[in-house]
Amino acid sequence: MFDALIVGAGFAGSVIAERLASQEGMKVLVVERRPHIAGNAYDHYDDAGILVHKYGPHIFHCNAPEIYAYLSQFTAWRHYQHRVLASVDGQQVPIPINLDTVNKLYGLNLTSFELEQWFASVAEPKERILTSEDAVVSKVGRDLYTKFFRGYTRKQWGLDPSELDAQVAARIPTRTNRDDRYFNDRYQVMPLHGYTRMFEKMLAHPNIKLMLNTDYREVQEFIPYRLLVYTGPVDAFFDFRYGKLPYRSLDFVFETHDTPQVQAVGTVNYPNDYDYTRITEFKHLTGQTHARTTVVYEYPKAEGDPYYPIPRKENAERYKQYAALAEETPGVAFVGRLATYKYYNMDQVVAQALATYERLASSRRLVVA
Ligand code: FAD
Ligand code: UDP
Repeated sequence: MFDALIVGAGFAGSVIAERLASQEGMKVLVVERRPHIAGNAYDHYDDAGILVHKYGPHIFHCNAPEIYAYLSQFTAWRHYQHRVLASVDGQQVPIPINLDTVNKLYGLNLTSFELEQWFASVAEPKERILTSEDAVVSKVGRDLYTKFFRGYTRKQWGLDPSELDAQVAARIPTRTNRDDRYFNDRYQVMPLHGYTRMFEKMLAHPNIKLMLNTDYREVQEFIPYRLLVYTGPVDAFFDFRYGKLPYRSLDFVFETHDTPQVQAVGTVNYPNDYDYTRITEFKHLTGQTHARTTVVYEYPKAEGDPYYPIPRKENAERYKQYAALAEETPGVAFVGRLATYKYYNMDQVVAQALATYERLASSRRLVVA
């Protein structure tokens, strides 16, 4: 008898497995449909010997010391501050939009103070910021919105920014200084030996058993367990009872070049040209030294592996129905980006998983006491 059956070996499943095994002495079985651990954070060496992220570029960033400390038990880190250029009007300029972006694009020579006034003069005031379009035009005006956000968002989501919640575009800050880092967070690091190695350490506890290439539905009835932790798509768990929750997918196209470096920075975004949204060169992220280099192109699509929940009102309403059902399903915890239909970064999933672990552990202690 296992104390817990955990569906999915991504951040959500692996953190809970590690905590239940190491802190509660529980015997857990992790069942993963894919042939590997680490979920969408999985990385591996490609045929050229370059460390790549199979499901697109993953850069770790967080503000919470406790999340950083928790993961630091399983990996050493390398400092890495992600920088992104956007290809706009035939030039590559910094995104998030900053002082250099505006000066370069419009041939100006503004100071930070003048840029604040400039933004105020072009911004369209909005009474309520409801959509991603509102979030951007209310800060930087329509022209920058059109150049940097409208085309990218339409490609990435298959929706106009006016059809998406404000939180989507609000992930990208606006700056009046020359800071060109993609993230503002206190901790901006990459696992020194890669994500997969970090997950191997997390799951290396003797109380944890792992089954790859297995959908939990293939084994559920043969394996006795007390608690189920589910980290897959929530609509699939309930056999799509209230209809499908839309998830956005991507095709990843990898390309290796016979030269050590092809881009000036980790990622170049293409908001207006081509069918792909961005190209990422992994060696910037990983710090690997190699005579060759591998990049990945991201082509958004509607069908395929579920990667992104799509934050908009009608989807939130449908998710609420599933959340109510999840609430009424005893003995099952729903955790992670797919199971709680939240556009979460890795650190947020770790935080959510640790909070779920605390809740599970305290109710178990009550039962045991
Ligand atoms: P997942 O990693 O999706 O893990 C769920 C696992 O459950 C999967 O491995 C799946 O195969 C398995 N599973 C599902 N159903 C079943 C089943 N029926 N039976 C068995 N197994 C099942 N976050 C950042 O912080 N920084 C970034 O730079 C970043 N970049 C990203 C880029 C892309 C292209 C994408 C798609 C995501 C990015 N993220 C990034 C987000 C990050 O991937 C997620 O926050 C994190 O991986 C979510 O972890 P999870 O465990 O919730 O889900
Ligand atoms: N975005 C954009 N232009 C950009 C970068 C981002 O329009 O150059 C918008 C787009 O809608 C994107 C969202 O902001 O999906 C969030 O961007 P982020 O880079 O955080 O996306 P992720 O890394 O999660 O794919």
